[in-house]
Amino acid sequence: MTTTVEQREVVATAREWVEREVYPVASDYEHADEFPAPLVEDMKALGLFGVTIPERYGGLGLDLLTYVLIQIELSRGWMSLSGVLNTHFISAWMIETHGTEEQRELYLPRMATGELRFAYSMTEPHAGSDVQSIRTRAVREGDEFVITGQKMWATNGLRAGAIMLLAVTDPDAEPRHKGMTAFIVEKEPEVEEQPGLRIPGKLSKLGYKGVETTELLFDGFRTPRASVLGGDSGIAARAVGIATRAFEEAIRYAQQRETFGKPIAQHQAVQLKLAQMATKIEAARLLTLQAAERKSAGDRADLEAGMAKLFATETAQEVALEAMRIHGGYGYSPEFVVERIYRDAPLLILGEGSNEIQQLLIARRLLERYPV
Ligand SMILES: Cc1cc2nc3c(=O)[nH]c(=O)nc-3n(C[C@H](O)[C@H](O)[C@H](O)COP(=O)(O)OP(=O)(O)OC[C@H]3O[C@@H](n4cnc5c(N)ncnc54)[C@H](O)[C@@H]3O)c2cc1C
Repeated sequence: MTTTVEQREVVATAREWVEREVYPVASDYEHADEFPAPLVEDMKALGLFGVTIPERYGGLGLDLLTYVLIQIELSRGWMSLSGVLNTHFISAWMIETHGTEEQRELYLPRMATGELRFAYSMTEPHAGSDVQSIRTRAVREGDEFVITGQKMWATNGLRAGAIMLLAVTDPDAEPRHKGMTAFIVEKEPEVEEQPGLRIPGKLSKLGYKGVETTELLFDGFRTPRASVLGGDSGIAARAVGIATRAFEEAIRYAQQRETFGKPIAQHQAVQLKLAQMATKIEAARLLTLQAAERKSAGDRADLEAGMAKLFATETAQEVALEAMRIHGGYGYSPEFVVERIYRDAPLLILGEGSNEIQQLLIARRLLERYPV
């Protein structure tokens, strides 16, 4: 994997910050389900909200590979921090790639500093994998669109100042606006009730706490016509990050905990687990970095990204369980980090494209690649 000095420096800075500032407090925030405002301020100061935003818009102008390496480090500390960043990253990428120059100039500089944070909302109560069946409608009225519908599972939904929102546009609208449209919807951050939009508190979750995930109830919300907008290695990177941390915790514990007169790391059954865990994590890491590198080089990488997501997230789930088993009964206690990782890991296999859907997409690409 080839990285530049600048990439290595940014990733090393993130790593040091995570170990110094995040390790000591992550479990407390997570158990209290509290938003880590001081950590997010640090992330802004470190420039993490603008890692991939071009320098001309105030970002660091680095590539997807660097973003992936940073996501691994953040997730080693606490997966929720990578969640604070990821909806923002996807939205910035969409604006840079599909936005007008006016939209890029309007949003990217504020996004690069983290002053304006983005949520990303496709999912509805009845429509997750089946995105085509969303019902939220945007109806054109003069120079505005009027949005009505119920969105579900919007991470950063309350605190974000803007939402990248997917809606069905008015069938009577001009052809350009028919069908499915992405809108850049600006809203008041941290306000539960505003004209046309209600955010009724945060949803309860098994893990992935601290960062809020919300419903968004649109009822006649008005957004300017100009807000119509003209990516997936992130989740694999999260998986590599949490699996790495689970392994590090397990191998340390295995050398400290003694049974039958020796550290459990000296028992062969535990050694077999450690060898399997480390090997799978290494494979997941390489798949993830390879996909990010291809994409950064401008090559098509959907097959590689899909494989990385599938393998890395299944690995994270397995490694989280094995790390917990190595901790014995203590793995079930909130005093040990592996308990948190065990609750965070399942989200990765079902979120951002479930692994069942992921396999269907991989198979579709394979069938294209090997035509008879
Ligand atoms: C904590 C959390 C945060 C989230 N954050 C966001 C966010 O910020 N923005 C956002 O838009 N969404 C978000 N989501 C939603 C997430 O992306 C969806 O939950 C996910 O896409 C799955 O959709 P679903 O829950 O409706 O499951 P369903 O689509 O109902 O799937 C249920 C099961 O059926 C399987 N299945 C469905 N269709 C097929 C098929 N054709 N073939 C085989 N199997 C199939 C699935 O794999 C799954 O096992 C979040 C979810 C969670 C839990």
